Amino acid sequence: MTAEELRSKHFATLCVHGSGEADKETGALNTPIYQSSTFAMHSAQEGAQLFAGEREGYVYTRIGNPTTAALEREMAFLEKGEKALALASGMAAASTAVLTAVSAGESIVASNCLYGGTHKLFKELLPRLNIEVIEVDATDARNVKKAMKSNTKLVYLESPANPSLSLNDIAACSAIAHEFGALTLVDNTFATPYFQRPLELGADIVLHSATKYISGHGDTIAGILISSADFIDRARGEIMRDLGGCISPFNSWLLLRGLKTLPVRIEKHSFNGMRVAKYLSFHPKIKNVWYPGLPTHPQYELAKRQMSGYGGIVAFEVKGGRKAGERLINAVELMTIAVSLGDVDTLIQMPSSMTHSTYSSEELAAVGIPEGLIRISVGIEHYRDLLEDLSQALGKV
Ligand SMILES: *Cc1c(COP(=O)(O)O)cnc(C)c1O
Repeated sequence: MTAEELRSKHFATLCVHGSGEADKETGALNTPIYQSSTFAMHSAQEGAQLFAGEREGYVYTRIGNPTTAALEREMAFLEKGEKALALASGMAAASTAVLTAVSAGESIVASNCLYGGTHKLFKELLPRLNIEVIEVDATDARNVKKAMKSNTKLVYLESPANPSLSLNDIAACSAIAHEFGALTLVDNTFATPYFQRPLELGADIVLHSATKYISGHGDTIAGILISSADFIDRARGEIMRDLGGCISPFNSWLLLRGLKTLPVRIEKHSFNGMRVAKYLSFHPKIKNVWYPGLPTHPQYELAKRQMSGYGGIVAFEVKGGRKAGERLINAVELMTIAVSLGDVDTLIQMPSSMTHSTYSSEELAAVGIPEGLIRISVGIEHYRDLLEDLSQALGKV
């Protein structure tokens, strides 16, 4: 079947079959791991042409690699973008995207609720490079509009956001960015292209910490950007090539493998996530639950509009705040106390003291993240075993 014919199939089929291109050399259905740093050239002239960009081909794995190219092709296909760039980590993707879009003396308007590492990049390193970051409550697109300046080149969103599960109206924020001649980036790590495709909603750049659901098994660190051919070519040639945050061919291969099971994993994560969220929302010891699939989520209508499912991340607060929350975390037996997310195993952690310790207490309060907020990345175990674990742990609180 041609790539054109495949396009009319369901998304789950696309994840399994990819863009329909088997390995050109051998016909291998799964792209081999091209574990090679360099590539032989046939002549001095060919080398010169490759470096001048007058000829397509591989020269050095920091700039491009056949296994990585296969991953990039699949991710661009699934996110409906022209091209993709795979990198060593989600943070390599974030820093590369930002430096491609923005230069010294320019500014970024960013959501104030982001992954803790992104927040640290925005708060510490970018100001040192004379890039201003204006953080706003981007759950209301009007705040984005008010913050835009004539030198704003990028609107940086994360929806659903880590760890509060708040949403950004991707279509509305993208329209505002375009009015000001800026690009919009959406960190789509939580939703994955299975549930949300930001480029179809008007965004310009999609970012993944592929460490999470794209890998799905907690066995690699990786990042991916998907955007226009022009943006990706510049990200590769002008930034990644210089900063060196390339991905290893083996990790690209793990992600290609992960993509094939993305639909079944995400369906199960989401099914279990809803059950955990509902269970917690009826529990007398729980004060608050954040999950975009619950009608009590303040942006439930937006979630229904821009996502086709709600995912496996649930945040909640135990009555009694941080101390009670820590008691709960210490009492779980089946779940693992660990950061990261999107693994087949259920992981539990406290953002204020772990993933989001880069936020000051004032910043956490401004975003509405209570100190005692607990984040669960719900795995694909049987949900009854997860509820039982939560039940026994809450009994000890
Ligand atoms: C983990 C994460 C990142 C950073 O990715 P790494 O692969 O750890 O570098 C960025 N954004 C979100 C939403 C994340 O959860």
